Amino acid sequence: MPGTRAGDSSAHHVRSPLRGRSPGSAGVVVTGPTIPYIDPEKCSSCQMCVLLCPDQAISPDEESGIPVIDLAYCKHCELCEHFCPKDAITMEAEVI
Ligand code: SF4
Ligand code: SF4
Repeated sequence: MPGTRAGDSSAHHVRSPLRGRSPGSAGVVVTGPTIPYIDPEKCSSCQMCVLLCPDQAISPDEESGIPVIDLAYCKHCELCEHFCPKDAITMEAEVI
């Protein structure tokens, strides 16, 4: 996928299947800290999150301009969620 680190398949760019469901629902297992999700409908491709992520976990997609988050590097600090000017990033529970 463009904008992701070579050899890494953990880039997160899809909405969590947990959204709208309660933790503990049948078939849903929630583990670990929350992870950032970017809503492409709200994102303006300003790249602010790319610049401010302290762990360089966010990179712009070369085609769409909408950032891609590499969860292998994300430390779950929530800075991207708090500072996105379009409120396009939300921290959501990871589901396995
Ligand atoms: S800061 Fe928000 S609006 Fe700007 S690129 Fe990141 S997700 Fe998109
Ligand atoms: S939660 Fe923190 S470490 Fe993870 S992508 Fe956002 S700013 Fe980067």
